Order: sequence, then C-alpha cells, then structure tokens
Amino acid sequence: MSKVKYYYDPDTLSYRKIQRKKRTTFKYAFFFILGTAFFAFIFVFIGSQYVESPKERALKRELQNTQLQFELLNKKMEHAETVLANVAERDNNIYRVYFEANPIPEEQRRAGFGGINRYKSLEGFDNSKLIIESNKRLDILQKQIVVQSKSLDEITKLAEDKEKLLAAIPAIQPVNNKDLTRMASGYGMRTDPFTKVRKMHRGMDFSAPRGTPVYASGDGIVTRADSRSTGYGNHIRIDHGYGYVSLYAHLYKYNVRKNQKVKRGDLIGFVGSTGRSQGPHLHYEIFKDDERINPINFYYGSLTAEEFNKLLEHASLENQSLD
Ligand SMILES: [Zn+2]
Repeated sequence: MSKVKYYYDPDTLSYRKIQRKKRTTFKYAFFFILGTAFFAFIFVFIGSQYVESPKERALKRELQNTQLQFELLNKKMEHAETVLANVAERDNNIYRVYFEANPIPEEQRRAGFGGINRYKSLEGFDNSKLIIESNKRLDILQKQIVVQSKSLDEITKLAEDKEKLLAAIPAIQPVNNKDLTRMASGYGMRTDPFTKVRKMHRGMDFSAPRGTPVYASGDGIVTRADSRSTGYGNHIRIDHGYGYVSLYAHLYKYNVRKNQKVKRGDLIGFVGSTGRSQGPHLHYEIFKDDERINPINFYYGSLTAEEFNKLLEHASLENQSLD
C-alpha cells in the first residue's frame, strides 16, 4: 500500500495531495526491473562459476566414466599386446627356426606410422592425450596382427612344403631288411670284386635272392627304367625333387615305367644280377644335387638307434663290394 504524501500550498494556504504522474510511475518500475535483472544476472553468473547445475554434474559424471572406460580399454590392449608379443616370440624363435625361415625383424613388427599426423582431428581437447595415445596403441596392435598373420601364412606354406619334402626324401631301405643281415657292403673305399683293386664304392649293396622286391625309398617320378648305363644293368632312377635322386641297379625285372609317379614303399622292381655284378644283389645310390652321397644317413626314419648303429657297423666294414 503506497503512502499518500501531501504538500503545503501557500496560495491556497492548505495541504494538497501530491499527485504522482503516471509516467514517473512507469519510470520507477522500469528501473526497478532493470536493476533486479542486472543483479540477478550477476548473481547467476558468479554463482555458476562455483556451483554446478544438475546437468553439469551429470555431464561431468559421464566424462569421468568415459575416462575410466578408456583406461580399462588400455589395460585390455596391454593384455593383448602381451599375448601378441608371446606369439611373435614363438614365431621367430620356434616356428621360423624350425622351418629355416629368417625371423621377422623387430622393427618390422613394431613399426609405427610415419609421415602425416593421423591424429590431428583428435587434438585440441582436454582428453586429447588419452584418446590419441589409445588410438596409436590400437593402430600399432592392428598392424602387428597383420604382420603376424602374414608370417603364419608363410609358416603354413613352409609346413606344407616340409611335409612334401619329408615324403620325398629317400628315407627307407630299398629292400626288406628287418634283421639287417642283407647289408653287404657300404659306401666308401672297397675292394672291386672283379679287379680286386681298392676303389671308391659310391653306393650300398644289399645281398638278396633273385626276385626279392625292391621298394621306392621316397615319393618321386621314375626318370629311368632301362639298361643303357654301363655297369648298372637293369636299373631305375627316381627323381624325388629338392635335388634328390635314388638309383636301384642290377635288377632282374622292373615293376614301373619311365615317367611313372611313385610313393615311398611302392614295389618298383626285383633284385637280380644284371650288369657288372658278382651275384644277386641290389646296388643302391642316392644323389643330392648330382653328387653321390652315403645312403646310410637316410634310414633314420625307419630304424631305432640300435638298429642304425648295427647297420652303420656293417656298412663301415671295408670288405669287398658286389658292385
Ligand atoms: Zn654296389
């Protein structure tokens, strides 16, 4: 309720009511609202610097949660990195060694990304460091996985080849020799049965009755089955690939033809005494890259250590070869 104010009018010698003009009332009201608004603004502005709104509190909580999740993700990445490092180590030190492949250099495995800054769009925020570091880590991890995956592809290929190689290498005795009594003469200096002169005998002789089965000692292709080589008589050559060739001489009969594919253990012919031979026996040779090598080192696959030693002893006797 507004107070009624009076003033003394000397003309009429009386008190008269002060009439406030309408305009003045508006002016007062206007300034009052303006002032209130100004102080309200100042109050809210200053207050908001120190007091959080519920919305701000919610956002802040969300941000904290995001940060926490990023840190947890980094922990998980760390775990993945450890596992991958372990796989890489086994890859380099076991698989690649086993398959005679060069290890993948560490620089290649751990290589980052040079050149342009891939993370520019992530810069300029409070959390930039955390986000960029996490991204970098994941990118490197991804790249390492690709390198590792390629390496394992290569190993798989090598393993397949190794299997073929192992099947190809002449690794069994060419005649049944269970009690090892058939080994007649080994590789080395031996007395020639015809001239009685010591000379190099570049194969192994297995004495066996005529008609005894002869087996392919490894997978391969028959390149010869004829008697057009001096001294060998009827003989067979098998090309095993990887530089290996085996030769079976003085045969009585063939069981394969030229260009025929054979597997280890296939019956390829029969023991005889054709060519320069003293009596029924199989003369067996192994070539590696066109050089004759001692077949004794190729039976490991089918013999026990004791059997091998016995065979080695027999083969080392400097006796007379059957040629
Ligand atoms: Zn011989």
